Amino acid sequence: MGTDMMTIEHLHQEELLSRDELHDLQLKRLRKTLKTASASPHYARTLACIDPEDIRSLDQVRDLPFTTKEDLRRGYPFGFLARDPGQMIRMHASSGTTGSPTAMFYTAGDVSFWADLVARCMHMTGIRAEDTFQNLSGYGLFTGGLGMHYGAERLGCLTIPAGAGNSKRQIKLLKDFKVSCIHIIPSYALHLFSVFRESGLDPRDLNLRIALIGAEPHSEEIRTRIEELSGMKAYNSYGLSEMNGPGVAFECRTQNGMHLWEDAFLAEIIDPKTGNPLPEGQLGELVLTSLNREGMPIVRYRTRDLTRFIPGTCACGREHIRIDRIMGRADDMFILKGVNIYPMQVEQILMSMPEVGQNYLIVLEREGFIDQMRIKVEVRDEFFEEDMRVLKGLAQKITRSLQQEILITPKVDLVEHRSLPRTQGKAERVQDRRK
Ligand SMILES: [Zn+2]
Repeated sequence: MGTDMMTIEHLHQEELLSRDELHDLQLKRLRKTLKTASASPHYARTLACIDPEDIRSLDQVRDLPFTTKEDLRRGYPFGFLARDPGQMIRMHASSGTTGSPTAMFYTAGDVSFWADLVARCMHMTGIRAEDTFQNLSGYGLFTGGLGMHYGAERLGCLTIPAGAGNSKRQIKLLKDFKVSCIHIIPSYALHLFSVFRESGLDPRDLNLRIALIGAEPHSEEIRTRIEELSGMKAYNSYGLSEMNGPGVAFECRTQNGMHLWEDAFLAEIIDPKTGNPLPEGQLGELVLTSLNREGMPIVRYRTRDLTRFIPGTCACGREHIRIDRIMGRADDMFILKGVNIYPMQVEQILMSMPEVGQNYLIVLEREGFIDQMRIKVEVRDEFFEEDMRVLKGLAQKITRSLQQEILITPKVDLVEHRSLPRTQGKAERVQDRRK
C-alpha cells in the first residue's frame, strides 16, 4: 500500500482496496451470492444449471441470467427470499406508480451492512459525527428515508427525520437546529430555496454546508444552481431499493462521478437493446449484482438506469469504479422522427442558460402527419419583463442549441415564471400527446 493511500480520510478499510484486491473479493462474494441465492424459489429455477464453484473469473457473470423488475413483480411477495421469512427484520417496497409492487427484505445483517455503506458514503463527502443531518426524503416504504437515516446515525450525526414536503416547517427545523447537512431531491431543493426567498430568508445565512442529492436524474447545471442558491456543496448519490436503497454509489469530494462500492456490488454496463456489454466510457444500462446480501440476493439486476463507467482513476485515491450521473431511464427515451432522445439532454441545455427558470415541459405532439417537439420553458421574472426582441432572441438561442444537441428543431414557448405545474416529488418532464 503506497503512502498516499494512507492519507485518504476513510471510514472503512474496504474503501482503500486496490483493483486486484477488489477483483478477488468480488469473485469470492459472487460465488457465495450464487450459493445463497439458489435457496430462493426464483433462483432455484433460473440458476439450476450453475455451479458457483465453476465461476473462475468475473467475466463469467455474463453467462448468468438477468433479473428484471418484471421477475421481481412475478416473485412478489416472497419468491426471492433466500432465507426463512422469520429471519427478516425489514421490508421496503417500490413506489409502484405503474404495475404491481415489488418487495425487498432485509436480515439484521443486511440492515447493518447497508447502514455501514451509507455511513461510508456520507463520510466520504466530509460529513462527520459532529454534524446535524436533516433528511428531507420521504420515509415509509421508500428506502430514501430509513436508508439515509440509519447511515447518518451509524456515522454518529444528530439525525432529524423531517420527511418530505411542508417547506415552511423544513426551513424552521433547518434554522432552529443549526442543521449542517441535508439529503434532498434536486427538484425539491430548488422549490425549497424559492420558499426561503418568499419568507425573506437566505439559505446562505444558515449553518448549511453539505447537501446530498439524488433519487432523480438531474444535470450538472442543476447541481451548480443548488450550490449557488444555498452556499452548500452538493454531492450526487445513487441507489435503488433492489440494491438496499441509497448507498450504492456516491460522489467523493472531487465531485467527478460516483464511486460504486465494488466490495458490495458487481456492476456492468450493457446495451439496453441487445443486452451485450459495452466498452468502458459508453453510455448504457447499469446492471448490478448484490455481493453481500443475505436475505434477498439479486443477480444481474437490470436497473434501466442509464450511465457509463468513467475511465481512469479518481484524484481522491479510491479505486472503486466511478459511474457518471444518471442520464435518465432506458424507458424514458422517446423517439421523435427516428431520433433517440433522452429528456436529460434537453434539460442540460436549458439549465445552462441564466435566463431560464427552474421548470420546463417537453410536449410531443402531432400536427397533421408530422411529429413535433414543443418545449415550454419558464423564464425568470427579470428577463420576462424585457421587451419582445430579447425574448425572441432567447427562444432562438434555445432552438439553435437543441438543434445541435438532438438534431431536431423544437418549437419553443417561453412562459412566465411559475406558470407550469410544480413538482414536489420526482419531476415529470415529458407529455406525449401524439396518440
Ligand atoms: Zn474519488
